[in-house]
Amino acid sequence: MPNIKKGDRVIISGSAEEIKYRGCIFEVLTEPYIVSGSELVKMKCHENGKYFGGGYSTEFLLKVPKRYDEQKCRICGCTWYNACPGGCYWVEEDLCSACVDVAKEIE
Ligand SMILES: [Zn+2]
Ligand SMILES: [Zn+2]
Repeated sequence: MPNIKKGDRVIISGSAEEIKYRGCIFEVLTEPYIVSGSELVKMKCHENGKYFGGGYSTEFLLKVPKRYDEQKCRICGCTWYNACPGGCYWVEEDLCSACVDVAKEIE
């Protein structure tokens, strides 16, 4: 179960709406609540105004710590648009996969 709570930013993942709302980051407007065994949250996408007032299953939500296009690695400074040579992904909010070992040495 993803640990989603009010105020989180999430994307839809693994459901039929995933393609329709690709690129939409939803703000979670409520704490999760249970309806017929499913954990739901109300959420809204500020970019296109789409509002899931009936709730959306947290099973199909993926938390995004920050806008992924605003993230920057604290070690190498790489971004979503300017990744490390060979590619990298976010391990922490401000740490990319290429710098994990470097970060460990520093800490
Ligand atoms: Zn990095
Ligand atoms: Zn990187």
